[in-house]
Amino acid sequence: MTKAISLLGSTGSIGRQTLEVCEEIGVKVEALTAKSSVDLLEKQVRRFRPRLAVLQELDAAMELQRRLSDVDVEVAYGLDGLLRAAALGSSDTVVTAVVGVAGLRPTLAAIEAGKRIALANKETLVCAGELVMIAARRYGAEIIPVDSEHSAIFQCLQGCRDYREVRRIILTCSGGPFFGLRREELANKTKTDALKHPNWTMGAKITVDCATLMNKGLEFIEAMHLFRMPPERVGVVIHRQSIVHSMVEYQDGAVLAQMGTPDMRLPIRYALTYPERAGTELPPLDLLSCPPLTFQEPDMEAFPCLRMAMECAQAGGTACAVLNGANEAAVGMFLREEIGFGQIPELVERALSQISVKYHPSLEDILEADRKARECVKRGLS
Ligand code: NDP
Ligand code: MG
Repeated sequence: MTKAISLLGSTGSIGRQTLEVCEEIGVKVEALTAKSSVDLLEKQVRRFRPRLAVLQELDAAMELQRRLSDVDVEVAYGLDGLLRAAALGSSDTVVTAVVGVAGLRPTLAAIEAGKRIALANKETLVCAGELVMIAARRYGAEIIPVDSEHSAIFQCLQGCRDYREVRRIILTCSGGPFFGLRREELANKTKTDALKHPNWTMGAKITVDCATLMNKGLEFIEAMHLFRMPPERVGVVIHRQSIVHSMVEYQDGAVLAQMGTPDMRLPIRYALTYPERAGTELPPLDLLSCPPLTFQEPDMEAFPCLRMAMECAQAGGTACAVLNGANEAAVGMFLREEIGFGQIPELVERALSQISVKYHPSLEDILEADRKARECVKRGLS
């Protein structure tokens, strides 16, 4: 079980819930990082007393240092600070709760330092899954998923000694706020509409990804890397209730599912206590009062992001980095209300058709593909 963590992205949705879990189960917090949220990071430092606090922006870091002059904590900034937090000697586990490809380098740094990774930052595996998994094997770093679907699969695989016994893994997908609508009905959906997720409260970027179903596409790629499955052995079903968090179908026909109320503190807690389980005060799943559990086929016509992600998974190389970079850029524009909802898949598709795929990419090739994809999305608007 984890004793002390570095928490990258502590001011976000996963970051804040991770701190709740740390308090509940008694895990020490050695480093906290954020991008620019000075107020919340200051509060977190006063409460959790880490050795190191990191902000991405210099001005914000200077302000934090000034405010924390009475506290024994080192304040650092920028990528260097983030990498130091990731490799900090006194942490045994690094929780990666940064959003986007910004999580890639610190995740690699944590792996190289041999840390256990509690991985929420799926974009890292989407862009550089092969590199990250090879590095994890080389440095003996365990990667324990925090994403609820992958945590479910990881739990259903406990006791499985040979992944050849698995016929396929089945990711469940809530369908998001626009489930059942046709593509033309989606075009003019607004930011407010997209930020209303039926079952989960999360950061803005992932909430929009849930509305386009890109989130499930990213999770499809994440699952392939985490569980060493080819795309044809990963399935997706719509399950509106978010009670079954995902399933593993074995060669003998047995299907194991992990169920629970939709609460991210459950997979976060498991990632920190694995291979043990800790008790909780949270209310248990009440099967008698939960709605009937239903499963349906996803609509790839209305939600082309899922189809594109599956195609990129098949293509390999830098295709997934282009997909992710274009999506991050397009979602950023949508959140700034510069483009409509219907333009997100259009801009991603444009980047995928214009940027050629490089196979067996290095880290530099992946970062270059990400940069080109973002530029292509920006140009698409002009
Ligand atoms: P949030 O947007 O709520 O939080 C993001 C965190 O990362 C904040 O602490 C933010 O700091 C920091 N951050 C943002 N940009 C940068 C950057 N460029 N460099 C360094 N730090 C940065 O995101 P979520 O918590 O929702 O998601 C985090 C990750 O977890 C994502 O990859 C998401 O896909 C994944 N995930 C989230 C789930 C959820 O329920 N929220 C479920 C499953 C997976 P600041 O506050 O200063 O901006
Ligand atoms: Mg998920």
